[in-house]
Amino acid sequence: MRDPDTQPKFSIIVIGAGICGCASALGLARRGHRVCVLEARPALSELGAGLQISPNGSRILCAWGLRARFEEFVCQPPWVQYRTYDTGETLGKHPRNINSWYEDIYGSPLWTIYRPHYQQLLAESAVSHGAELVFSAKAVKVDADTGTVYTTDGRCFKADLIVGADGIWSKARAGIASCRDIVPIVWDEYAYRCLADRDHMLTAPPTAALSNNGDTNFFLGPSGILLCYPCNQGKSFNIVAPCHRPVNKEAHDTFNPEVDPVELVDAYKDFFSPVPELLSSIKKCVKWTIVYLPDLPTYSSENGRIVLLGDAAHAMLPAAASASNMAVEDAAALCECISACKVVSELKSAVKAYEAIRKRRNDRVWEISMISQRNVSSYTAKSYNDAVAARNEGLRKATEELAEYLKLSSEDRKALQASQVGDEAAIYPSPALLKWLYGYDTITVSREYLRDNPLSQ
Ligand SMILES: Cc1cc2nc3c(=O)[nH]c(=O)nc-3n(C[C@H](O)[C@H](O)[C@H](O)COP(=O)(O)OP(=O)(O)OC[C@H]3O[C@@H](n4cnc5c(N)ncnc54)[C@H](O)[C@@H]3O)c2cc1C
Repeated sequence: MRDPDTQPKFSIIVIGAGICGCASALGLARRGHRVCVLEARPALSELGAGLQISPNGSRILCAWGLRARFEEFVCQPPWVQYRTYDTGETLGKHPRNINSWYEDIYGSPLWTIYRPHYQQLLAESAVSHGAELVFSAKAVKVDADTGTVYTTDGRCFKADLIVGADGIWSKARAGIASCRDIVPIVWDEYAYRCLADRDHMLTAPPTAALSNNGDTNFFLGPSGILLCYPCNQGKSFNIVAPCHRPVNKEAHDTFNPEVDPVELVDAYKDFFSPVPELLSSIKKCVKWTIVYLPDLPTYSSENGRIVLLGDAAHAMLPAAASASNMAVEDAAALCECISACKVVSELKSAVKAYEAIRKRRNDRVWEISMISQRNVSSYTAKSYNDAVAARNEGLRKATEELAEYLKLSSEDRKALQASQVGDEAAIYPSPALLKWLYGYDTITVSREYLRDNPLSQ
C-alpha cells in the first residue's frame, strides 16, 4: 500500500446517506478524500427497525476502528432458536455468539443493531473524518459526461467521482446508459416490520421469557414465519413477519405504509404463546413491500465517472439478511480501489477494478437471498406440510450434529475452522457456503486483487 499522506485526494459525491452511503463516505474520508454526501431526506432517517451485521460486515467496521463504538449499541444474540408456531417447542437451536462461536468460526462477531443507530454511527464517524453531509438534497439527474449531480431545488454539484448509493430507486443508476431501463421487481409477498418494547415485554411471563434469553427466535407456522431478535441496545425487539399475500402495485413511495398493528395480530392469529402477547404490545407497524433488482449489466458508466453501490446496484431479497452487509463490503472495496489511484485518470480503472471484485460475489449473494426467500415462502404456501416436515427434520439433524461440535474448546474450534475452506458453489446454507459468505475479508481480497491487477491510466 502507498503512503496515505502522499496519495492524491479526489473530490467525491456520494448520493444517499443510507448504510451504504454513510459507509462509503466514512471509508473514503478516512483515506483523505473530499467527500460530500447528498441526502434527499431533511435529516438522518428515524425509520427502520433491526438489521443483522454478519461477520463479513463487522470485520470491516472493526478494521475501520469502530468496534468499541459499535459495541455500545449492538446486541449479540447467543443463539438462534427455531420454534413451532403452535406450541413454541424449540425444533433447533444453533449457536451465534455463545462462547464467541461466530467469532471463532468466521473471525468476527455477528451483531444486531437498530438501523437508525447504524446509520448514525457511520455518519458521525464520516463527519469526524471530514465528510460533509448535505440534507434535503434530492438528486434528480446525474450526468456521467460532466460528473454533475442536479438536485430537485436547482443546485448542481460536480466531482471527480459520483458514488450512487441512493437505494433501489436510484437516480444515479439512471445516469448509466445501459442501466437506464432497469425496473425494480415486486416480490409476491410482504413483511410486517416493527419493534416491541422490552420493558413492556417484561410485564407478561411469555414475552419476558423471550426477551430474557436475548436469542434470535424464528416462529415457524403455516400462515407465516415470525422473526424476532433484540436490537436498540436490548431495549427493543425487532420483528419481521413476512406474509404470503397479494401485493399492491401502487407507486413506490406508498410501498411501505404504516398500518394498524391489529392487522399484524390478525395475520398471526393461529400462532400460540408468546406470539400473540408479543404482537398485541406493538404500537407502530409498517407493511413493507419486498422489492428487488434484476441483474445489472454493469455497476458503472462507460467513463467510470458514476459507480453504483449497495441497493442501487443489487437490491436483494431480505431473507438472507445480507443487503446491508453487501453494501458495506461494496463501500470497503471501492475505498481500496480509489485509494490505490495515483492520478484522476486512473479513477476509471479503479472503478472497473471495484466492479470486478464485487459483481460476482454480489450476484451469488443475490442468488442465495432468492433461495432463502423461496424457502420462507414455501413454508407459507399450500405445500406447507411437505415443506415443513423436511425443514423440521433438517433442523433437528443440524442441532444433533452441532451438539458434538459445541463440546470443543475455543482453540479446537478455531483450528478446525481454519482448516475449512469456503466454497461459493456449495449449497445454501452448508458450512462451506457460510464460510464463504461470512468468512470473507473484503479489504484483504481487494488489496490482493489490486496487487495482481495494477491500475492503468
Ligand atoms: C428508511 C429505510 C429503512 C429501512 N429499514 C430496514 C430495516 O428495518 N431492516 C432491513 O433489513 N432493511 C431496511 N432497509 C433497507 C436496508 O437499509 C438496505 O437494504 C441496505 O442497508 C442497503 O442500503 P443502501 O444504503 O444501499 O440503500 P438504502 O438503505 O435504501 O439508502 C438509500 C439512501 O439514499 C437516499 N436517497 C434515495 N434517493 C435519493 C436521491 N435521489 N437523492 C439523494 N438521496 C437519495 C435515501 O433517502 C436513503 O437514505 C431500510 C431502508 C430505508 C431507506
